[in-house]
Amino acid sequence: MRVEHHPLLTRNPCTRRELISLHYGQAGRAGKVYLQASLHADELPGMLALHHLRQLLDRAEARGEILGEIVLVPIANPIGLEQTLMHDAMGRFDFNSGENFNRRYPDLAEMVAGRLAHELTADLDQNRQMIRRAMADALKQMQPVTEIDSLRQAQLLLAFDADVVLDLHCDAQAVVHLYGETPYSAQIEPLARYIGAQATLLAEGSGAGSFDEACGQPWWRLAEQFAGRFPIPSGCIAATVELRGEAQVEHALAAQDAAALYAFLQHRAILAGAAPPMPALARPATPFDGSLTLHAPCAGLVVFLHQPGAWIECDEPVVHIIDPIGGATQVVCSSVSGVMYMRSAIRFAAPGVELCKVAGTTALEGGVVVSA
Ligand SMILES: [Zn+2]
Repeated sequence: MRVEHHPLLTRNPCTRRELISLHYGQAGRAGKVYLQASLHADELPGMLALHHLRQLLDRAEARGEILGEIVLVPIANPIGLEQTLMHDAMGRFDFNSGENFNRRYPDLAEMVAGRLAHELTADLDQNRQMIRRAMADALKQMQPVTEIDSLRQAQLLLAFDADVVLDLHCDAQAVVHLYGETPYSAQIEPLARYIGAQATLLAEGSGAGSFDEACGQPWWRLAEQFAGRFPIPSGCIAATVELRGEAQVEHALAAQDAAALYAFLQHRAILAGAAPPMPALARPATPFDGSLTLHAPCAGLVVFLHQPGAWIECDEPVVHIIDPIGGATQVVCSSVSGVMYMRSAIRFAAPGVELCKVAGTTALEGGVVVSA
């Protein structure tokens, strides 16, 4: 295993942060996988999962069983990891710019499409290499002026040429779930099975500019753009893996997740050995647009009636919002049926605050059903 250091832009002459990557295997053999954890720096279960995975990879390396290239970035966000406010970790938004750390990644499809129009050929594999070369050049030509943009550039330079990119996050209180893109649903399903995803939410161009979209989206968008003219492969399967709730940083769970990731890498033939039998799919994928967010209709004490992972029927009560002065209880119901895959950690709500999300099976306009 090789360790690489990638210095970020500095904000003053006395301090310097860096992104650190761990490299297993060799480039150009059986493909490349990139895994990073804690891009939202206060979401730590993925960091522990990678700690367990690297122990498995160390043993695989000693046995000569790493067939491809595997890059781990256990601390994807050294900026956010230092952010605290009154003892609480604050790793989702950059204190300096206010930006969500998982937004505003550059649009590689747009950056390379013009050049490719003159270079692409009738050969699929040649086009894969050509697109990756164009992406590498475009990324290297970027001249970030802020530390956060230099972090985005450094991450993408490590990930852009991977065949599989997994971004490990978690939610406030949640069961394991995945976000991915609809064109890659078939390739994401094995991951959903191994990791035991209770929900898989698929979108086609959510427009979020998230890290996983920045890696995976260029390929299907270029394929659409050049359809009928040049063959474009599915060059990078990317997904965001939500490893339960923030507080679930536990060895047993992380060891289980690492074993699932290892099995998925065997399935992708990056690691030697037969992948274990694929478990049954816990829940079929649902559209990202079908996910219903329940909001608090008024201020009050929040009491959830279900644990994360519960199946919620349409019109079923999900949350009580209690006015401790007037004594009234508002009942918040779901207007869709589906798994409540995450819920907030907030237990006293301001009006309009997000409470939880239910993975409905069809795209919807949104809204909640509220009864007294
Ligand atoms: Zn996150």
